[in-house]
Amino acid sequence: MRCFLTSVLIYLWILTPSASLQAEEGMWPLSEIHKLDLASRGLLMNPLELYNPDGVSLIDGIINLSGCTASFISADGLILTNYHCAFRAIQSATTAENDLFAKGFMAGSRAEELPAPGYTVRIIDSYRDVSDEVLSAVRASMPYARQTREKEKRIKAIVKRAEQRHVGKRASVAEMFPGKTYVLFVYTDLRDVRLVYAPPRSIGEFGGEEDNWMWPRHTGDFTLLRAYTGTDGNPADMKKENRPYHPDAFLRVNPRGVSEGDFVFIPGYPGRTYRHRTSWFLESEENRRMPWVVSNYEWMIDVLEKMPAGDRDVAIKLAPRLKGLWNVMKNYRGKLKGMRQAGITAQRRADEDRLQAFILSRPDLKPRYETVLEEIRELYEEDRRDWQARLACSYLPRVSFLLGTAHTLYEAAIERRKPDLQRKAAYMDRNFSRLSQRILRGYRDVHLPAERVLTGHMLAQLLSAADSAYAAPVRAALGDMESAAFLQHLFTETQMNSRATAEKWLQAKPEEFRRSQDPVMRLAIAIHPVLQRLEDEDKARKGRLDALLARLVEVKRIFQGRDFIPDANGTLRLTMGRIRGYSPADAVEMAPLTTLDGLVEKHRGESPFMAPEKLRRLVAEGRYGGFVDPVLGKVPVAMLYDCDTTGGNSGSPVLDARGRLVGLNFDRVFEATVNDYAWSDRFSRSIGVDIRFILWFLSEYSGADHLLREMGVSVADKEG
Ligand code: ASP
Repeated sequence: MRCFLTSVLIYLWILTPSASLQAEEGMWPLSEIHKLDLASRGLLMNPLELYNPDGVSLIDGIINLSGCTASFISADGLILTNYHCAFRAIQSATTAENDLFAKGFMAGSRAEELPAPGYTVRIIDSYRDVSDEVLSAVRASMPYARQTREKEKRIKAIVKRAEQRHVGKRASVAEMFPGKTYVLFVYTDLRDVRLVYAPPRSIGEFGGEEDNWMWPRHTGDFTLLRAYTGTDGNPADMKKENRPYHPDAFLRVNPRGVSEGDFVFIPGYPGRTYRHRTSWFLESEENRRMPWVVSNYEWMIDVLEKMPAGDRDVAIKLAPRLKGLWNVMKNYRGKLKGMRQAGITAQRRADEDRLQAFILSRPDLKPRYETVLEEIRELYEEDRRDWQARLACSYLPRVSFLLGTAHTLYEAAIERRKPDLQRKAAYMDRNFSRLSQRILRGYRDVHLPAERVLTGHMLAQLLSAADSAYAAPVRAALGDMESAAFLQHLFTETQMNSRATAEKWLQAKPEEFRRSQDPVMRLAIAIHPVLQRLEDEDKARKGRLDALLARLVEVKRIFQGRDFIPDANGTLRLTMGRIRGYSPADAVEMAPLTTLDGLVEKHRGESPFMAPEKLRRLVAEGRYGGFVDPVLGKVPVAMLYDCDTTGGNSGSPVLDARGRLVGLNFDRVFEATVNDYAWSDRFSRSIGVDIRFILWFLSEYSGADHLLREMGVSVADKEG
């Protein structure tokens, strides 16, 4: 990997050697790693072997797998990630007759590995700072929405140029500090990804939604995939004759694992955090958006869970959607609980009051910073207006697949007429075939009764905002029809439920759309202007907020006399910590490792606590292989540590002090979901599968010794 910048931080971080056991907040960008005193934190390897901006290092084995993290674990492109990250690949190969959820999957040979359609392996080639270039597109005199658009346009041009220069690569510009720092990343994207091994769902999701976001945990949330290239070694679409990819770097496994108190670190792709946002943002999350999402998703989950009524095909179709709804809903419940208990919004407000007092006490700072907080407050004040209708409107195309697809197809027809750089990013030539494929793949899971109920629910939410302008097109489409009759009309007369129809629309011109009599398409065309209006309003808000947040970061840094790292933004980061338990409540102490025996204790004989009979037998016979923890005398299943992670860190490797693989991150504890807003030494704990469970399950349960060998784990290791 090549790097052409010294720091994405605006200022130098003051390094504090920390050998203490106090955990440390920090998702460190690549550009900062060389400044950290890693040895004093517990690292026992040469930092250049961990990350070398001018050569190959361990970091080159870390990949982004369609939004999750994953890592190469063999010279032949074998990939380790979570079961839940590969869920769609497993689901798309599952039928009632060949039920991979029930059986799990193991390819007997490379030829038997299954395609994982839609999955992309993304490897960083290089990165460099492009802040000046991006920011020079903007003038303070421009209207706010225009500022955002100009910035976007400049970013698209930078990306296009980078992709012309690096043929066959993908480029992307990441916003590190809004309105302040921007970094261009160049990636290699591999499009042929195949499923090698998945445990049965009863293991990959042991504990199901009941245990999701919880500790103690006994979930074997792991899967193996493999990346392929064309015969010339370049990225290629899936083809039989393609060859396994040979990564520059891959991780070595430590089959002995780690113990309580040991140093660990995690490279990965954390998605989004909001730690630099103000109390007004937190307040809108806490009092409006999150409770709204929780109550709507609870309603949808309740309806969808009853829908299969014993029909396995329907259950398979609905599985990814239900999983997604559950995951968000429970995460938000955790966040709401955490925010309320700790009074996070009030704390942030108190911090802002102190900052404001500081600004007022400094005549040199007053002119530039005095009104920053007040202006941000006003912006969020305006945001309260019509918030329910705006939320319902923006969630409508996401929740209703058919309406959302019709909207995208119509918008594509409009956008695709413009010159490439003037289109919305999704419709640019470089993205459009991916988008088309994603739409068409989505049809596999369309279940019309579910579509109808969800669309009806979201329309009702929108209409409940009686005289909102955002609801006007839907009200007009309804005319004097009752909602139920309107829904009936939509769903009995539409052709949008067929993939062939979508394929046809992909080729159509805007005029043909406008002549359509299909009721779903007509509704999509009717709501297009309000969705566009929402987008324009968001751009205006972002333009205004970016300029304010940039000033806020500046003055906070002066006030605190130190710098901070940017919020997570889906770029590669490093976090460090220790294997460590926690106390979620008064008089409750949680240990940091769970065991196979504990998994069997949790077995209830029915989903989601259904330990396979073979697993229970192996445990009863004491068939632990060589994977027993010397302190516990048992095989560990899951581990807890105080590293700083968030969504997107799923599938990140957990590495020991020598950089060897000892676990696989997949979740956080309930109390830690709030760390997207504020980090806490007491509660911020992440959860991983212990490598010893992965190795034990592969070899003792599945007889996959060939995979252990491919990972460099010898039979001697296996036998202890
Ligand atoms: N489960 C999350 C993920 O999918 C990880 C987390 O939010 O802690 O990335």
